[in-house]
Amino acid sequence: MEAPSTMTQEEYMALWEEHGIDTATMSKKKASKPLSQRKLKSLNYKTLEEIQADLTNCQRCGLCEGRNKIVFGEGNKKTKIMFVGEGPGANEDKTGLPFVGRAGELLNKIIEAMSLSREQVYIANIVKCRPPSNRVPRPEEIEECLPFLKAQIDIINPDIIVALGLTASSTLSGEDCTMGELRGKFHPLFWNNKLSVMATYHPAYLLRNPAAKKVVWEDMKLVLKKTGAKRK
Ligand code: SF4
Repeated sequence: MEAPSTMTQEEYMALWEEHGIDTATMSKKKASKPLSQRKLKSLNYKTLEEIQADLTNCQRCGLCEGRNKIVFGEGNKKTKIMFVGEGPGANEDKTGLPFVGRAGELLNKIIEAMSLSREQVYIANIVKCRPPSNRVPRPEEIEECLPFLKAQIDIINPDIIVALGLTASSTLSGEDCTMGELRGKFHPLFWNNKLSVMATYHPAYLLRNPAAKKVVWEDMKLVLKKTGAKRK
C-alpha cells in the first residue's frame, strides 16, 4: 500500500490507524514467501505456559526492537477452531492481546455469528511482535517466530485453523498463491497434513470492503460444517 506523493509512508499509515484501520493486513500487500520448502524448527514444549515463559523478553528477531508487548495468543486451550492472523497492530502491541480494536471487534462478531464465543476459540498470530509501521513480517522474522506458533498449534491440536489474510494463509498452507486463489478452500497445514487450514480474508480487509463479509461467512459455514458444529 503506497502513500500518495503528498505524505510519507509513515504518515499515510498513521492516517489509517487514526481511523481505526489495522494496516498490518491490507489486502494489497504481498505475503512473505512460505516457509514450507525450508526446514521449520521443532521445539519441544509440553504446555502453552512453558512456551510463553520461554518467550519472555524474546530477542530472537529484530521485531523485538520496536515492540511494547509480546502478543502470545489467548483462548481455549482445547478448542477445535483456532484463528491465526499476521501479526500484532498498534492496539495489540499496547495491550498484549490478539485482535483488539476495530478488526478485533469484527472478528468477535464473526465468531459470534458462528454461535461461538471468543473464549471458546484460540486466537494467535504468525509473528508475536508488531512489525514497524505495520509492514509485512519478513521471511527471517517468520522463520524465527513460527516455531512457537507451531508448538502452540501442536499442543492445542485443533481440528481447523482459520487463517486470516494472505500472510497467515500462505505461511500455514505453504502455498505461494494470491488470496483469491487460497480463500474458500481447506488446505493441509504444511507440517501436519491431518490438520486443515481455511484461508479467508482478514477482518481489517473487511472493514474497508464490507461486501467481502458475505464471502467470509461462506468460508465460516464450511468451517462449521467440517467441525460438525451447528449454527443456532
Ligand atoms: S516476533 Fe517472535 S521471534 Fe521475533 S522477537 Fe517477537 S516473539 Fe521473538
